[in-house]
Parts: sequence; C-alpha cells; structure tokens
Amino acid sequence: MSIERENPAHPREIVGTVNPTPPEAVDAAVRNAHRDFHEWSRQPVATRLAVLGRAADALDARKIELAALLARESGKPVSDCRGEIGFAATYLRWVRDHAAEVLHLRGTDDAQGRITPARRAFGVVAAITPWNAPIILSMLKLGPALAGGNSVILKPSPLAPLTVSAAAELLPATTVLHGGADTGRALVTHPLVRKVAFTGGEQAGRAIAAAAGGALTPVLLELGGNDPAIFLDDFALTPNDFERLVLASFATAGQVCMAAKRLYVPETRITEFVESYIAAAQRILIVGEPMDGNTTMGPVVTRTAAERVRGLVTDAETRGARIIPLAAAPPSDGYFLDPVLALGVPDDADLVRLEQFGPAVPILTYRDETEVLTRANDSELGLAASVWSADEEHAFAVAARIEAGFTFINTHNRTGMSLHAPFGGTKNSGFGREYAEEGLLEYVQTTVTHAPAAFRAGGAGLPAGAYPG
Ligand code: NAD
Repeated sequence: MSIERENPAHPREIVGTVNPTPPEAVDAAVRNAHRDFHEWSRQPVATRLAVLGRAADALDARKIELAALLARESGKPVSDCRGEIGFAATYLRWVRDHAAEVLHLRGTDDAQGRITPARRAFGVVAAITPWNAPIILSMLKLGPALAGGNSVILKPSPLAPLTVSAAAELLPATTVLHGGADTGRALVTHPLVRKVAFTGGEQAGRAIAAAAGGALTPVLLELGGNDPAIFLDDFALTPNDFERLVLASFATAGQVCMAAKRLYVPETRITEFVESYIAAAQRILIVGEPMDGNTTMGPVVTRTAAERVRGLVTDAETRGARIIPLAAAPPSDGYFLDPVLALGVPDDADLVRLEQFGPAVPILTYRDETEVLTRANDSELGLAASVWSADEEHAFAVAARIEAGFTFINTHNRTGMSLHAPFGGTKNSGFGREYAEEGLLEYVQTTVTHAPAAFRAGGAGLPAGAYPG
C-alpha cells in the first residue's frame, strides 16, 4: 500500500504518494547500493567532488519548485523552505571545496619505513532522516558520505518523503527507500550497511543504536534537544534582536531540534523582557497559509503533534502557568496552533522537562548564575543552548559551563549556524558531528599500509630489543 502524504495546512489535500519498500525488499536494495559503492569509490576524489558541485547547482536551479512541494508536504512556510534548500546547496558546495584537503592524508617514507595512511569509505551508508528539515539534513549526510566514496541509501520520514525523493535524484550513488520504522530497522541491521547516520527523536535513536550495536555497525546520532537560552542580567536586546529570538523558538512552529525551548530570564528584568518579547512576536509572527510568502509560522506536522502540544500547554496551565497567546492561528481544519508563552511554569512540568517540539515556550525566572546553570543543565538532553549578554567574554565563560554540543552567543537556532562549526549533541542528544571537517570525517575510516624499514629490500632485519615476532 502506498504512503499518502497529506498537507498539514489542508489535511484533505493529498500532496503526493510514495511506494514503501517492505523490510523483505531491503536486502536487494542494499546489494544494488553495494555495487554502486564499488563503482563510485573507484572515481577519483576530484571527479566525485565535481559531481557534487553540479548537484548543488541543480538543486539551486530547482529551489522555487522544490520549496513549494516541501511547504505543502511539511507545513513549513515556503520562504523557510527556499532558505533551507539554498543552504543545502551552499553546504554541498562547501563539501566540494573542502573535502579533498580533509580526505587527503600525507604518508611518510623515512628511517622507520614507508607508511601510507588513507581515508577510505565504509561502503553502503544508511541515512535515516526526519521530516522537519529534510533537505538540509539529508544533504548533511549525502554530501560527506559521497565525497568519501560511499554509496548511500536514504530513508526519509513518511511525513515528508516527496521533496527528498526529488532532490536525491540529483545525486549519484544514492537510493531512496520509503517506509517507516520497519524499513528503517531492516536497513540498520543489514550486514552490508557499514555505517548508519540518523537524525530524529530520542526514542528512535535508542532503537537504532541498539540495532546497530547488535550488528556492530557504527552510528552517528543527531537527536532531539531541549535547548536553554540564558539571558544574563546585562542582556541588551534591540527590538530586532527580540524578533530574532521569537523566531529562534517559533520558526517551523517550534519543531526544530535546536529551537530555543526554555528561556531563563533574571527575576529583576522579567517584566521588560516579557513586554519586549510580546511586542516583537506581534510584529514578526504571522500564522497562516504556508504557501503565502509573508507567513512566518505554519501548522504543526500532524494531528497527533497538535494534540501533544495542546496537552503540554493544558498541563502547564493546570500546574499554575499563565498562558499568553502571541498570535492567532487562522480558522482552518489544518493543524494550526496559537503560538504561546507560558509564564510561571514549575521546572518539573513536562513543558519544561521534555522537548516540546511545538509553538509553546516557557519563560522561567532565576536569581543567580550558579542557579540558572544548574537548572539549565538539569536535562538528559544536551543539543544546543544560548547565552545572551552585552559582555561577550562573560557570555563565553558562562557557555563553557553549559552541557550542550553547540552554544550560540546573542542568537539561537538557524541564525547562528556556521558551515565551519561542527554541530551535534552531548548526553542523550546523540553523538557524532555534522558540518565542518568533523562532519566529513564521519564517513571515512583511516587505513594504513606500512613497509617497515627493517624488512624492505636491503633492510637490516629486526633490531635487538624490538618487539619480537
Ligand atoms: P522520528 O524519530 O520519529 O523519525 C525520524 C526517522 O526515523 C524517520 O525516517 C522514521 O521513519 C525513522 N524511524 C523511526 N523509528 C525507527 C526505527 N526503530 N528504526 C529505524 N528508523 C526509524 O523523528 P521526527 O518526528 O521525524 O523528527 C523529530 C525529532 O528529530 C525531534 O526530536 C528533533 O529534535 C529531532 N531532530 C534532531 C536534529 C539534530 O540535528 N540533532 C535535527 C532535526 C530533528
């Protein structure tokens, strides 16, 4: 049975369908991908990188058309979708321009002998991706994996399978398999899959890590976050900064791994903070039709997601929180939610403790830095964080005490990303890194060929005192 993808803004509209690969058909697909690997890995690095560069240009050329499809299947505003696809193309060009240097290892030939290290591909890589930023998250795996000479089987989320399929066609040695957890599991445990790269939620991450562990297959896990944003008592935000902050939480209706999910504000400055925040939200948050270029917040992805987030807000309210709506969702049968702030939420409420992954943000007050760091770090998740202060040195010192893989200063979320900075989680937010040199190195392993001097033609044999044979 095919997978139908509905439009979250208009659930009666089916945007498209894809055919799932049942688990029993995964074997044939992996064997084909293994043949692709042999062919692709034989291409010189320069050839592989040139192909990736051309794929980047082709992706850019189709940005408008693909962004419209992504907006319809995911509910993300079309302007964000264009930004995501453009950024994915930029990332592929970064790989084209930097991979040759990173992948090359210099050998030595001296009195010790001749040592030739090489960075070699694993083989078939299984890339399993979520729905919320499907193009950039797929390209973050495809770019470095293909540069390194691997072939890739990409399994996108059934909640946004269409745009990824179209974009993946632009890349060589890449196969897209559709399906849910069953298909993903068959892929992860296949003996010819030599590396798994996963982005998604903690629960699926645990299942994948366990399955990959059983198969002794290395995994990269980019999981969820519950990012704290800490405002030091000297924070100095302009109205524009407040708008950026609002979007750091509410872009993609809050469904971003590194959204600002818990805001910690000094008790002495809470009133002015909340006033400025609400004013900025009223200017910048336009909730509505994703295909409208002015929209900044669309619906959440499914009915279940909407119900879950409503439940978190109701629970916070029951626990004494004051809920402040920031904008009104349009009347619709789509999965729209009013974006809200929650004030006075207890730290142990689910809205604070869990990744809310929706447009409901708690603002919490604190008295001193030690206290706020303890509370911010009191989480099993450790993806990203931010520190906001007029004093950059002080902000960096506080950042050094935060348990997170990536800490932004005076911004948060997408506006703080850099192609040159490795990104990934600590604690239960995962392991391994994407972006930058580390992101390239995830998809190669170092092998060595060594001719010891003692045994080369004319060598003197094993010297006395050497490691005996
Ligand atoms: P999800 O975990 O439900 O699904 C992600 C992918 O895993 C999908 O393709 C799904 O079909 C597949 N899957 C699920 N169970 C599986 C299993 N047992 N074996 C193999 N495959 C399986 O996540 P989602 O709802 O699509 O995305 C939201 C989550 O992703 C959030 O927690 C978010 O924070 C996280 N995320 C993390 C990052 C990051 O870079 N760290 C980026 C984006 C999203």
